[in-house]
Amino acid sequence: MAKKKTDTTTIEPLKFSGAWDYAPAPESTGHIKLEKRYGHFIDGKFVEPLSKKYFATYSPSTEEKLADVADGNAADVDAAVKAARKAYNGEWGKMPAAERGKYIYRIARLMQERSRELAVIESMDGGKPIRESRDVDVPLACAHFFYYAGWADKLDYVSPGRKPKSLGVAGQIIPWNFPLLMAAWKIAPALAAGNTVVLKPAETTPLTALKLAEIIRDAGLPAGVVNIVTGAGATGAAIVNHPGVDKVAFTGSTDVGKIIQKAIAGTNKKLTLELGGKAANIIFEDAALDQAVEGIVNGIFFNQGHVCCAGSRLFVQESVADEVIRKLKDRMQTLVVGDPLDKNTDIGAINSKEQLATINKYLKIGVNEGAEIYQPKCSVPSKGYWCKPTLFLNASQSHRIVQEEIFGPVLAVQTFRTIDEVIEKANNTPYGLSAGVWTDKGSKIFKVTQKLRAGVVWANTYNKFDPTSPFGGYKESGFGREGGLHGLLPYLKFD
Ligand code: NAP
Ligand code: MG
Repeated sequence: MAKKKTDTTTIEPLKFSGAWDYAPAPESTGHIKLEKRYGHFIDGKFVEPLSKKYFATYSPSTEEKLADVADGNAADVDAAVKAARKAYNGEWGKMPAAERGKYIYRIARLMQERSRELAVIESMDGGKPIRESRDVDVPLACAHFFYYAGWADKLDYVSPGRKPKSLGVAGQIIPWNFPLLMAAWKIAPALAAGNTVVLKPAETTPLTALKLAEIIRDAGLPAGVVNIVTGAGATGAAIVNHPGVDKVAFTGSTDVGKIIQKAIAGTNKKLTLELGGKAANIIFEDAALDQAVEGIVNGIFFNQGHVCCAGSRLFVQESVADEVIRKLKDRMQTLVVGDPLDKNTDIGAINSKEQLATINKYLKIGVNEGAEIYQPKCSVPSKGYWCKPTLFLNASQSHRIVQEEIFGPVLAVQTFRTIDEVIEKANNTPYGLSAGVWTDKGSKIFKVTQKLRAGVVWANTYNKFDPTSPFGGYKESGFGREGGLHGLLPYLKFD
């Protein structure tokens, strides 16, 4: 195959001895008000947990405790489900749809007003760079509420000719990688469809969900429409197993998704599962390589690789592999790892000590499997949980680092020669959530995207989200879609 001519024959790539030195630009935290202790948000108010137990949530970048939050048990979940049922049978269930829409708009507006506070708390509690929580998580979360507010009084158009009905009480369980955004993905369509909600945020990132509870209270939403119960896996299981829950919506790992599917088998509960991924990002030799490299970096190092749709497998066409890898290494050398609240930071803190241990385990596995590891020369802070962006070169299909979800800033690189070969390799995974294709040729995009078994395929871009677009997976990445019209359907039934 002819080697592609590129500008690098005339322009020498920049050489970096380390990350660029920027003066620190920390986001202030002076305006942040956190309670020392948070109860559950049940029936329109914060209440002490019936369990009488609390646990701490920490900042993964400083290891400092931020607050104590309630550890919900089955009795707490029961109180939340009862409040949700009462609201469903009462004011919320009887409210005209257009009025319901106004409440959802109001939540969106109040979130926008408090967006800076939400972004800062998201970065403090979860470790993600402020640039992302400010520019991605919070605006997208608001956009989901705005979008679904518009649907509330238009449900008759969801499936013309059929009469839609809400389901009742939705039990919703979310992970730690996009805490506020996942809460918005879950709550907004459920409310638009007329349901009430019991939501459990992840153990390590409960704070923005609790701030959202304050916003929901301030929006004047009738008591019990949204209930937020904090806790760990057992609290999630109590929601799943509660007989008063009509629908379970879960986003998290495939392992827990399987437990939930078994738990509700034989019940009338509806279920959607948004699970793990091992996305392939494919660069063809005719792609705009600099643009592709930027997309690859965004696809895997964005949010520390704590992204279900992270482009964690890179397939590069052999003729341009050397050039792409060189450009990738150069770009990685410029990435800033460190304080999530610094506006220069590209890669923040790993979400928890446990997740860092998992990632480090995979780094060892990759080396032992014979892949070649590359990490840029950059320093990381002495306190907190950090992982440098990492490449594994010469990875092969059978390697565990290629097959298993690592959920960290770790990219396994393989090469290919033909389209058929790369499709075969890309589909050779138990997951099927997302993928990326980089090429100058439109026909190639269509050919490849039709054959990739992935719920979302981005072409010449990556990690682009919009509330109007459905998102979800195939195979072990789950079923059901979130976003868009498709995201409403799991919260409705039809006569
Ligand atoms: P996880 O361990 O499965 O936890 C997800 C949520 O479930 C957490 O709130 C967790 O509580 C709770 N939970 C744990 N055990 C439970 C049980 N037996 N019954 C009910 N709930 C239970 O996943 P994670 O580590 O937080 O999140 C990372 C995973 O989420 C990755 O696999 C990622 O790919 C996936 N994800 C998928 C999507 C998507 O849209 N497809 C989006 C984002 C993330 P604790 O926090 O207390 O453990
Ligand atoms: Mg935390």
